[in-house]
Amino acid sequence: MNAVELIERKRNGEELPADELREFISAYVRDEVPDYQAAALMMAVWFRGLSPAETYALTEAMVASGETLDLAERLGRRVVDKHSTGGVGDKTTIALGPVVAACGVPFGKMSGRGLGHTGGTLDKLESIPGFRVELSNEELVDQVRDIGLAVAGQSADLVPADRKLYALRDVTATIDEVSLIAASIMSKKIAGGASALVLDVKVGEGAFMRTLADGRRLAQEMLALGRQAGMDVVCELTDMGQPLGRAVGNALEVREAYDTLAGGGPADFRELVVDSAGQLLALSDLGVDEAEGRRRAEDALADGSALAAYDRWIHTQGGDPDPAALPRAAVVRPVMAPRSGFVRELWAREVAAVAMSLGAGRQRKEDPVDHAVGVVCSAKRGERVEEGEPLAEIHARDESAAHAAEAGLLSAFEIGDEPEPRPLILDVIR
Ligand code: URA
Repeated sequence: MNAVELIERKRNGEELPADELREFISAYVRDEVPDYQAAALMMAVWFRGLSPAETYALTEAMVASGETLDLAERLGRRVVDKHSTGGVGDKTTIALGPVVAACGVPFGKMSGRGLGHTGGTLDKLESIPGFRVELSNEELVDQVRDIGLAVAGQSADLVPADRKLYALRDVTATIDEVSLIAASIMSKKIAGGASALVLDVKVGEGAFMRTLADGRRLAQEMLALGRQAGMDVVCELTDMGQPLGRAVGNALEVREAYDTLAGGGPADFRELVVDSAGQLLALSDLGVDEAEGRRRAEDALADGSALAAYDRWIHTQGGDPDPAALPRAAVVRPVMAPRSGFVRELWAREVAAVAMSLGAGRQRKEDPVDHAVGVVCSAKRGERVEEGEPLAEIHARDESAAHAAEAGLLSAFEIGDEPEPRPLILDVIR
């Protein structure tokens, strides 16, 4: 394999042979191909795209770059997993894991940290005092066996090629290419060893995929990769035109997930949790269909068993499950509606930018995160607001940070005269 020639061929629009692509990736992981050549190849791919065969070869090469975990074989059960392509206020794993575990289906998941405008599940979980996100592969397997549920940070041994490539793509404007995203996500899922997977492809202004057509393309590519790897995959396409639920910010989102498990929570978030649980249970070894899966998920929320599964899980990973233990911001300031009407838009990226400016996210990987701060959207799209009533709450470190966030948060809202309801779940592809 000649790296320069390979870059040149991709740049000229040629399809690359699988073996050469594999060789390139494995040489890159061994530091035998420098970052600048890998960056050039990623940019050529960004312009020229990858064929299905190239995407699979890239995915396989990434999986082969590290260890793999055969969770299903080690537990003697089908293991289900879920993944979201990233959104604002997406705390789904924190509620979905306990619901699925309460229904008797093992749920073992590796999650990531937030970067850019989307928050990561690990950062959210780390707002729980004492919670340990670093589990060895052995600990993860043992915990899923013992209590049916574990969520841990992506192990360094799994898919090191993605760790390296993702960091490179992040600083070379090559994140947003459908085949590269599909290979990145699916390599981690395949290496993680689940038997079945529910993918939540976020679509809209607050997501990587801005249009339904792009979301469908990503979904189809991930479905094809899963199929080739022998995994059952269902893909939900869901709206990310506004934040999911009301809370955006680490501890605030954990509290919202807790409230949902306790039988409350925002309607859209609850709906996504129940729907995803229905899909996951239908893919499990329970032998139920999706409607029965939904019913069991509803029961687990109503009878307290999902909340009990949450308590057990958080406790087992060293955390305090009591929501009163979560950090709280020093200042909570409401933002008032400038007029009466219906919320027509609640721009997810604006809300994320405000949460970020308060310190809830990170601009660079090494930045610290303030777990207590963020935004709670008191009104969401389609809801009625009266002039002078709260649209949202800013949770800030101090008065000056709260004051600085006000104008930005207000500009996230558009208020009109009519409600314009739009669905949360846009499509399901299998
Ligand atoms: N999430 C990932 O894991 N990889 C990408 O490339 C984009 C989103």
